[in-house]
Amino acid sequence: MIYADNAATTKISDAAMNTMISVLSENYGNPSSLYRFGQRAKEILEKARTDVAAVINAEPREITFTSGGSEADNQAIISAAELGKKSGKKHIISSAFEHHAVLHTLKKLEKDGFEVTLLDVHQNGLILPEQVENAIREDTCLVTIMYANNEIGTIQPISEIGAVCRKHNVIFHTDAVQAVGHLPIDVKAQNIDMLSASAHKFHGPKGVGFLYVRKGIRLTNLIEGGAQERGKRAGTENVPGIAAMATALEEAVQKMNEISADLTAKRDKLISGLKEIPHSALNGDEKQRLPGNVNFCFEGIEGEALLLLLDQKGILASSGSACTSGALDPSHVLLAIGRVHDVAHGSLRLSIGEDITDEDVDEIIRSVKEVVEYLRGFSPIWRDLISGKKEFIL
Ligand SMILES: *Cc1c(COP(=O)(O)O)cnc(C)c1O
Repeated sequence: MIYADNAATTKISDAAMNTMISVLSENYGNPSSLYRFGQRAKEILEKARTDVAAVINAEPREITFTSGGSEADNQAIISAAELGKKSGKKHIISSAFEHHAVLHTLKKLEKDGFEVTLLDVHQNGLILPEQVENAIREDTCLVTIMYANNEIGTIQPISEIGAVCRKHNVIFHTDAVQAVGHLPIDVKAQNIDMLSASAHKFHGPKGVGFLYVRKGIRLTNLIEGGAQERGKRAGTENVPGIAAMATALEEAVQKMNEISADLTAKRDKLISGLKEIPHSALNGDEKQRLPGNVNFCFEGIEGEALLLLLDQKGILASSGSACTSGALDPSHVLLAIGRVHDVAHGSLRLSIGEDITDEDVDEIIRSVKEVVEYLRGFSPIWRDLISGKKEFIL
């Protein structure tokens, strides 16, 4: 089996698994308990906070642990909105290709009287700092732009956007779920005020993540209850998950340069191999993208069929479109970069990880070529395209 869906989730690393098991079995105390056994759990929790903070150049008290990326995105955006509301600022800037954890939270705020500007994304999957600057108004309370896109892997000019936001004194949040553990991040140098991360995207366990919030910015509580996490996130802490996340992150950062160079070479080989397929196109900028991300559109086929046939060949990948309520919705990300519906339906995302071999890369290229050709063989859309009844777009 070739696992090429690391943007969806990653395999937990051995070191993170060992940390998790040891905390689960030996240090199962409640960090809020006052006896020594509880205090040991508290120490583990606070060491994880220090370690996680160090990786992004934050201070430990600027880190709040959450149940993952979605919760961190929700809490960051709602907190900035609450602060904005207090000072009469109800305008938020984001982009059309954010994760649904961001887009759906913004939708909810719109119903609450907030005005949201979603910036257009360029064909290459990038947003320019000038676009952000031009959209900022007197009443803007938040800019939220993702660090790296989860579908097409494009990396945004975060430092430049951070500088623009700081200049205009607007809170800048970034959904960095695809970036943390994969790209170097320095929240201070990059002027990032809030940042979301999720452990299962960097070989940690599922159901745990963190939100960085620059000191001085007040977080809104989403979960009422005990006074855990300095009163900002109630509920007994997921100590085993949090400790394992810290282990996974330290490991990811240690190996980052090496893995990044290796994956970039394999990614570029995949891209040049798949480009040989006629009427295909890479989605997103060729260079300004995550080391492990490859995303293509193939004209005249359905992404779902492609995935199922690749699965039969032992290749696990993903497509942009998701089958929701019986209707096929093409990916909002591909539509945002200007792909038309027909083309967006024929998409394939390969997100490779460190365990992928050169042979795997060759096998993926061979299999995708074979399956695309096979599917086009009985696709009515393809027939219309080659007979000239319909015009090729790619
Ligand atoms: C996976 C992902 C999320 C959601 O994270 P969870 O921990 O699964 O809730 C949010 N944003 C991006 C960009 C993601 O890739």
